[in-house]
Amino acid sequence: MLFKSDSFEVSFIKESIAEFKFCVPGPVNKLSQQTLQECGQALTELANNSDIKGMVFTSDKDHFIIGADIFEFLPTFDKPEAELVEWIKNATDVFDQLEDLPFPTISAVNGMALGGGCEWVLATDYRVAAPDLKLGLPEVKLGIMPGFGGTVRLPRIIGADNAMTWITTGKEHRAEEALKIGAIDSVVAPDKLLTSAVKMLEQAIEGKLDWQTKRQEKLQPLKMNRVEQGMSFAMAEGMVYAQTKGHYPSPMMAVKTIKAAANHGRAEAMAIENANFAKLAKTPEAAAQVGIFLADQFIKSKARKLAKANNTEIKQAAVLGAGIMGGGIAYQSAYKGVPIIMKDIQPSALDLGMNEASKILGKQLERGRLTLDKMVKTLGAIKPTLNDNDLQTADIVVEAVVENPKIKQAVLAKLEADMPENTVLTSNTSTICIDVLASALKKPENFCGMHFFNPVHRMPLVEIIRGSKTSDATINAVVDYALKLGKSPIVVNDCPGFFVNRVLFPYFAGFNQLVVEGVNFAKADKVMENVFGWPMGPAYLLDVVGLDTAHHCTDVMADGFPTRMARQEKDPVAVLAAANRFGQKNGKGFYQYQMDKKGRPQKKADADALELLSSVCASEKEFSKEEIIDRCMIPMLNEVLLCLQENIVASPQEADMALIYGLGFPPFRGGAFRYLDQIGLANFVAKADQYAHLGAIFQVSEQTRQWAQAGRKFYQ
Ligand code: NAD
Repeated sequence: MLFKSDSFEVSFIKESIAEFKFCVPGPVNKLSQQTLQECGQALTELANNSDIKGMVFTSDKDHFIIGADIFEFLPTFDKPEAELVEWIKNATDVFDQLEDLPFPTISAVNGMALGGGCEWVLATDYRVAAPDLKLGLPEVKLGIMPGFGGTVRLPRIIGADNAMTWITTGKEHRAEEALKIGAIDSVVAPDKLLTSAVKMLEQAIEGKLDWQTKRQEKLQPLKMNRVEQGMSFAMAEGMVYAQTKGHYPSPMMAVKTIKAAANHGRAEAMAIENANFAKLAKTPEAAAQVGIFLADQFIKSKARKLAKANNTEIKQAAVLGAGIMGGGIAYQSAYKGVPIIMKDIQPSALDLGMNEASKILGKQLERGRLTLDKMVKTLGAIKPTLNDNDLQTADIVVEAVVENPKIKQAVLAKLEADMPENTVLTSNTSTICIDVLASALKKPENFCGMHFFNPVHRMPLVEIIRGSKTSDATINAVVDYALKLGKSPIVVNDCPGFFVNRVLFPYFAGFNQLVVEGVNFAKADKVMENVFGWPMGPAYLLDVVGLDTAHHCTDVMADGFPTRMARQEKDPVAVLAAANRFGQKNGKGFYQYQMDKKGRPQKKADADALELLSSVCASEKEFSKEEIIDRCMIPMLNEVLLCLQENIVASPQEADMALIYGLGFPPFRGGAFRYLDQIGLANFVAKADQYAHLGAIFQVSEQTRQWAQAGRKFYQ
């Protein structure tokens, strides 16, 4: 043994060739600060060992190295900027040490080599990979950019344009693509990985491969003249801006870092990278995006625990209703390997449900993401039926019929009477209290809400709603099923609208008030999209949800929360819905919609909508961007706070992930509670107080006021 630490072992694998094997305790190899420090010690020692003529880096696991240890990021990013620069420099020096070893080096890469793992393999002279390689620098997804020399070495290996695409998108790349672009030197079968790597090393040692020249290229300025640089960097900056609208500083900083280092050798280039990395690490966007990663881990581990406790085997599912949601749920279940019976009362609805599934599968087939075999299997796993008796074999049933409490109660009661005693029953209602529906059942303990989002195959969130009588066993089974569907389940307590819709409707109410007072709704949409960062502004979102649906839900919410959410006397949504403008579904709402060449609805202004709205709205008036944001967001944030106070949602992490996964809350803001932390709860209360005269949705609770006074933060 040449060196041994908890995370890696170095020993001779052949005379004069050493194997440096990563074997970090736990399921994956990751680079903690401790591991990196030990790597530094080992490399110092190994560099001085004249018996070593070449070194191969391997992993003892299914993946090479999945990255740095993200759990260490936030405490590290808390350091003052100068200390951070020092810290990242020390870590980067380890990668330089690796690159400077006095003999040729090669990485034998299996599975993922991401972030720090990718940076590690870039610092070796050669890279040979197994076909399951996933290589990439996903740091921008965490609001930072590659450190440890990632922005320096990658452009010098695959060219600046390719490197900027890899780094600014943060995508993972497969073996074939990485080989084509020159990021790796060869791809070999997994069982040949080590022997091929050793063979290449031997060739390098014998002088048949010129490893010194290859290494030298990484230490030099980029091979681009000034004109090429000008064009390349201007184009990259333009593309990044178009994609991020200026909300995400990290990809732009990565481009600027590569540009600033382009004409420098390694030492200066690394100094630029270290300084810019530290700047990004101090941004609120980095805190928000790393926070999302950690909150996602938190909700996943909570869900896994519940699913592990599940005793109900889910071999067969059923869905009642083959509409937009039922069809989507059937597709998702079948695709993920849980066969599903899809029941409706209309044959035409069953056809539509099946067509919807075929359409989604067809698109995937076209893009090469699916085999014909898998498509046929998925469709075969959906059994459409008009017959109640066909439901008998289902272990779990999702009711997804029309949003009407009487119909849902009747459907659920019949289902309970027909099905075997312990079948788990759920409802995909978007607003109706679970307890209201449960009151029609003899065994309410077997029932809970399972609220999917539209479109089901794309939206990660499933809100699982515990009614007052729902048993733990039911929750465990439903969480297990949601995980089997590849979704991120979050368990919440019962109230009208549950968590996500309960906080969405006050946001719509705030927006509606602005429209009544004369805001130009298209301008307000632009502010909420371009300045706040929502994927769609409120008018556009209402059109997508459906104005008839929104109108109907407003009634349910008004019944549930009459003091805060009573229907407003002048209601733009009601006016448009009454004129049969239901939004995207019938091509007319706040906007009008026409299909583009790809069959996607494109929105356009519509004078008829403005004419209709003039019956309830004042003539157009200018509002500042700040006021538009405040008057939409304060009601939402206020309701989010109430939901935590009333234990509708159990933690800030779950609330934030529900908003990000269910509504597309801007990830660079990290969710409502992260946003409240960043603006300061006391500042939020002061702002809300300014608007308190506009109605109860702006009035903060006593508890919120106390939290603000006590300086409460939701994340440490
Ligand atoms: P939809 O109108 O598209 O589909 C409802 C289907 O239920 C229709 O095909 C209808 O024929 C069928 N149906 C009616 N009575 C039935 C019965 N007794 N047995 C079997 N089938 C019956 O509605 P949707 O948009 O799919 O919504 C369904 C449910 O999902 C509603 O509760 C809705 O609030 C909820 N939801 C909708 C969305 C959305 O964006 N559309 C999102 C989340 C939740």
